[in-house]
Amino acid sequence: MVQETEHVCGLCDGQGYHVVMVGGTETCPACDGLGVEEEI
Ligand SMILES: [Zn+2]
Repeated sequence: MVQETEHVCGLCDGQGYHVVMVGGTETCPACDGLGVEEEI
């Protein structure tokens, strides 16, 4: 049985964080650092 993979978060590209302009990283607000989008 093939299970569908979790949707990789498009905002952080599945990394769970994104680079901010101030020169650091910030926990992705879209996936809360999980790197995957929650399916509603
Ligand atoms: Zn994300």
